Order: sequence, then C-alpha cells, then structure tokens
Amino acid sequence: MKYISTRAAAGSSEGKRFCEILLEGLAPDGGLYLPESYPQISDATLSQWRKVYHEQGYADLAFEILSLYIDDIPAADLRALCAKTYTAEVFGTGEIVPLRHLEDGVWIEALSNGPTLAFKDMAMQLLGNLFEYELARRGEELNILGATSGDTGSAAEYAMRGKKGVRVFMTSPYGRMSPFQQAQMFSLMDANIFNIAVKGVFDDCQDMVKAVSNDLEFKRKYRIGTVNSINWARLLAQVVYYFAGYIQATERNSQKVSFAVPSGNFGNVCAGHVARMMGLPIEKLVVATNENDVLDEFFRTGSYRVRGTADTHETSSPSMDISKASNFERFVFDLLGRDGARTKALFADALNKDGRFELGTDPIFSEAASRYGFVSGKSTHANRLATIKDTWERHGMVIDTHTADGLKVAMENRANGVPMIVLETALPIKFAATIVEALGREPERPAKFEGIEALPKRVQVMEADVAAIKALIAQECAH
Ligand SMILES: *Cc1c(COP(=O)(O)O)cnc(C)c1O
Repeated sequence: MKYISTRAAAGSSEGKRFCEILLEGLAPDGGLYLPESYPQISDATLSQWRKVYHEQGYADLAFEILSLYIDDIPAADLRALCAKTYTAEVFGTGEIVPLRHLEDGVWIEALSNGPTLAFKDMAMQLLGNLFEYELARRGEELNILGATSGDTGSAAEYAMRGKKGVRVFMTSPYGRMSPFQQAQMFSLMDANIFNIAVKGVFDDCQDMVKAVSNDLEFKRKYRIGTVNSINWARLLAQVVYYFAGYIQATERNSQKVSFAVPSGNFGNVCAGHVARMMGLPIEKLVVATNENDVLDEFFRTGSYRVRGTADTHETSSPSMDISKASNFERFVFDLLGRDGARTKALFADALNKDGRFELGTDPIFSEAASRYGFVSGKSTHANRLATIKDTWERHGMVIDTHTADGLKVAMENRANGVPMIVLETALPIKFAATIVEALGREPERPAKFEGIEALPKRVQVMEADVAAIKALIAQECAH
C-alpha cells in the first residue's frame, strides 16, 4: 500500500509507505496523506471478520484491518502491537467498544473507557506503541511538541508515557483547563512527560508550537514531531471501531447501519468515510456539530467557511470548538474524484485568500449526500441540556455533552429499519459542570479517578516565550 498527498498532481507523486508517513505530519506540499486506493471488503471477508471479532476479539479485528494498509511492519509484529494496545485492562471491557442499547433502533457505541475517558485513546494508544516500535527500529528519538486545551494533550501523554525514544512537551493555557483535566495530565510522574502551563490562552500555546516548528534547523536538530489528528495512523486506528460497531449491531451482512458522530476536526467521521469506502454497509454518516457549525454549513449548503477567532464559540462541548476542520480536506479530495490540483486550489489558494470556498453550485456537491452518505445537523447548549436530561429520565443513562450533540442530531436522521449507532466520544465526568446544570447531580466517577485532584502535580509554569520552551527541549535532550 502506498500513500499519496491530497494535493498531488495526478500521476506525479511517488507514493510513500506507511512507516514513512507514520512520524510525519502534513505532506511536504501541505496536503494530507491518503492511501492510493481503499481496499475493498468482500462479503466473505466481512463474514470472516464477524467471527474474528466475536471469537478472537477487537485486537485481532484491528490486525485484520490494519494489515491491509500497513505492509512495512512484519505481520507478527503488527499483530503483537494490536494485542498489546487493545486490552480489557486498558479499555475496561473485553469488547473494547461495547454497544449499549438506548431505545428501539438506537445504540451508543462506548469509545471512551480508555485511560483518559475520551475516544481519542482508541487511536492514540496504538500510536504510542507504533512510535516506540518504529523509533527503536530506526534507532531514533522523537520529541513531541503540542498544545492542548484538554482531550488531545492528555490522550497523547497517556499514550506516550514511559515509551522509549519519545518525550512529550505539552503546553496548555495556565489555569484554564478543568480541575479534572489538569489533574489527569499533571499527575503523570513519568520522566518523559513534560507539562508546561503557559501564562496565556490556548492560541498563545499554539503560536509557540508553530514558532518552534517553523525553525527548521531546531526542528531537525531536536527531531520535533506532533501527534495531531491529521496523522493517518490515528485515522486508520479509528476505522476499526466502525467495523466493530457494525458487527455488534447486525447479524447479517445484508443489513445496513448509520453512524452519528460528534464532530470537530472531522477525524472521527472521516474514519467512518474510509470504512464505508471499503464496503462496510453504512447507510448514513451523520455529522453532528455544536454551535461551531463549519461542517454543518458545508453539508447543508456546499459553502466551506473558516471562522475567525471572534466567531469561534466557547461551548459546553469544548472538544468540538473548531474554527476549521483539519481533516476535512481528505473527504473533499475524494468528493472531487481525487483531483489533487483542484483540492490544492480550494485548500491552499481559495482558503488562504478568501477564507472560504463554494461547492454548492457544482453538480458534484450533491454526491456528498447521494454517493457518500453524508448528512449533518447542529446542536446548541440548550439542545445538549435537553438531550442529557431526556436520556437520563427515559433511559437512566448519563451521557456527556459531545455525545449529546451526536444523539440530538442522530434522532433527526433516523430511518425505519436502519440501526443508528451514536459514537460516545467522552464520559460525562470530564464535563461535570454541564451535567450538574442539566441533571442537578454529579456524574459518576470511575473508581480509578477517585481523588485525582489531590495527587501531586508535575508541571512547570512558563511565560509565552518561544526561547524558553526551546531551552527546555534542548536541556532535556542533552541528558
Ligand atoms: C476530539 C473530540 C471530538 C471531535 O472529534 P474530531 O475527530 O475532531 O471530529 C468530539 N468529542 C470529543 C469528546 C473529543 O475529544
């Protein structure tokens, strides 16, 4: 399997292998990597994967799917990496992603029982093991530098803690994360994890990371890398739980299901798109946004309009508060018939110049729904509160704010006879304040998180100063 950039001119690029792009972010031309083609799953293969999931488990299913895309890691090693990653010990159940029945035809797929209680663990835990494996094979080290306001940073730290050859330098805005999120990250005592609380806002953190990455000499000398959601390996890992969800909701391959996905950067639902392109019988991919409705606007109108800072709202489903959707280019590339030149014209030229592009008048736009199955909807704070309350009162189930956005939009897009699977992207304890607002009671806290706010913290406070973070990285690498 070879990988190409979404901005490559047709026929021009030499494809890269999986392990070449594993440690890279963007392609050199600024595009995102995608496989040259999507492997097609026959009816017989899907039946065999049903057996694999039911009889051998999630890790073996992950191996079956990943091995179609990764041909530069020996099969036995890849199988071992999957087995090491997807354990009941780390993810809480033997099913790893159990389906919970909500009501007639509606299911919740639990993706949030990993170490940080959000779905990002599903991919990040695998990424940690893949990084450690590949770095050891090359005899190299990697310094992961990131900025976080919550979920991504903690998922990265829990995935990379104690991994050989990897250090994580994670900046976050001082005093702005919830006490629970701070406790989760700052209580990690591993020597390769560095928490840096920056006196500023999230954008200051991101600017520092960008400034370091733009210093190409420093970047090369200290092997600076990232783990953001445009990494193809993260997306690929997420494809697996669409198969596992489908297998649990159906008995025969003739059945279809729909998925509703709380969306921000379009990484999660893009994995659903990949699963559907492989031939998984998915009827609809329901994109749910919060008040930051860049994606809903696109799927309704064909207009893609990046928001400025002033138009990016702080909401009670904060992990979906995005101004642009960093993985969206992957889907548009497919929608445009894999025309790299046109994708480049939209994402490099039009977005840079006008901050928007329009596909609404192009006949191809209707294929987003008709051929690729995408529909969308939006959910507000009031919708979120109502959905959380209704789900508690009618089903005795407490769901988090992001999952509530997904469920609200799912209900607007149900069809008779087609099971609707809502992806649960976080547990309610992470967003306790809104749960209290909706229900007047605290959400349940898993036992292993009892009292974490009182644990000792390992964090250094820093001014928003690029020289200071460079000095810290240089100092740690000298050890
Ligand atoms: C990251 C995240 C999302 C959004 O996922 P994307 O892949 O960016 O679309 C939704 N919910 C939660 C809880 C998240 O952490």
